[in-house]
Amino acid sequence: PGQAVVVGAHLDSVAEGPGINDNGTGSAAILEMALQLRKLKIDKKLQRPVRFVFFGAEEAGLLGSQHYVDSLSDLQRSRIYANLNFDMLGSPNYVRFVYDGNGSATDLGGEAGPAGSAQIEKVFTNYYGAKKLATTPTAFDGRSDYGPFIEYGIPAGGLFSGAEGLKTEEEAATYGGTAGAAYDSCYHQACDDISNLSTQGISELGDGAAYATIRIAQSKLGLYGDAPKPTIKTKAQVKAQKKAQMKVLQKQGRSTRATADGEHALTR
Ligand SMILES: [Zn+2]
Repeated sequence: PGQAVVVGAHLDSVAEGPGINDNGTGSAAILEMALQLRKLKIDKKLQRPVRFVFFGAEEAGLLGSQHYVDSLSDLQRSRIYANLNFDMLGSPNYVRFVYDGNGSATDLGGEAGPAGSAQIEKVFTNYYGAKKLATTPTAFDGRSDYGPFIEYGIPAGGLFSGAEGLKTEEEAATYGGTAGAAYDSCYHQACDDISNLSTQGISELGDGAAYATIRIAQSKLGLYGDAPKPTIKTKAQVKAQKKAQMKVLQKQGRSTRATADGEHALTR
């Protein structure tokens, strides 16, 4: 023990609307998980404690999660076993998206997360696979509160039900819903209210979130078996890494937090 599983969701919304799907759903899911975990009284059976964190100011540029991760000491950060992030779980036209920790989705850039992220992705895909429910990888690009964690090399993963992107024909055939329509047509708008939800979606994604949390916290073998746990970077290393990245981006005339789809918001 001593190695905590940090489970996070952002509590804030954009100013334009109440943010029920983004991210009342993720916040409600992890709150319910915390309540249920307490009821189960399995603290002593857990190999790793679970720390639930409700982040603020995600929409303003991951400010809460960045502050949280930065404010820990190198020793405290090295004691984070994994970060699970839940940002949008009940999109009305949902897909069961799993963060692409192993970088298998080459059409999304195919960038893998830090060591351990592939194993976390597999916990989710195995869960849904056993239930004969399809999943689809989604870009692991740091656009939500797991971003600051992976910057330090902390393994991360999570689920996502889709935002402003349009559902493909193939996805509609697999998941139902409407092809050519946004996963969440009220994304970052006033209409992201209590009617902007798929209860089926939040139920399916919420169950997967709870499963992965318990699985990773309870597993004796852990994510790595006999292999060593990945090394978390120190603050000095991340500082140097950021400086180097900034230099490269400045040379290219780009901003520091570059995104794949340029014009869109930098965070979910
Ligand atoms: Zn969000």
